[in-house]
Amino acid sequence: MTVALRAHHVLCMLTYVGKGYSPAFVRNFDGIVHRLAAGEEACLVEGPDAVCAPLCESEGACAHCHGAAVRARDQRAAQALGLLLGRSVGLGSRLQLDGALLARLRTAYTSGQMRGACAGCDWADLCTGIASAGYEGVRLRMPVTVPEQN
Ligand code: SF4
Repeated sequence: MTVALRAHHVLCMLTYVGKGYSPAFVRNFDGIVHRLAAGEEACLVEGPDAVCAPLCESEGACAHCHGAAVRARDQRAAQALGLLLGRSVGLGSRLQLDGALLARLRTAYTSGQMRGACAGCDWADLCTGIASAGYEGVRLRMPVTVPEQN
């Protein structure tokens, strides 16, 4: 199984501390974090994804997830991810998170390198604070494994 994620939600995973639009949204987000931490790959999709699902179940709320501004945010996030990873990133790209990649993404996010996608987001101040505080309290954590030396 893969976790369907729109590109900018890869960034949102980095700073997720259990805050969100509703208790159902947070419960669902926690489940996604759990799946990624357990080793499931993310597969990039266009439009509403696994994170959006609870919003799309409530009438009216899904309009946000289909909006042009949010789609543009995905494009900026995919571009930033591509630059960081050194490969083309877009619809259908697979992303296998591990501790090393997560640390790399967070370092880039803190530096501002990945923040173009965050312009205009209502949560930007919260995410900036979390990054500045060294990601204390974030829910997606994965151990960094050091390769054995012979
Ligand atoms: S500022 Fe918005 S888009 Fe950027 S990581 Fe935070 S929640 Fe996601």
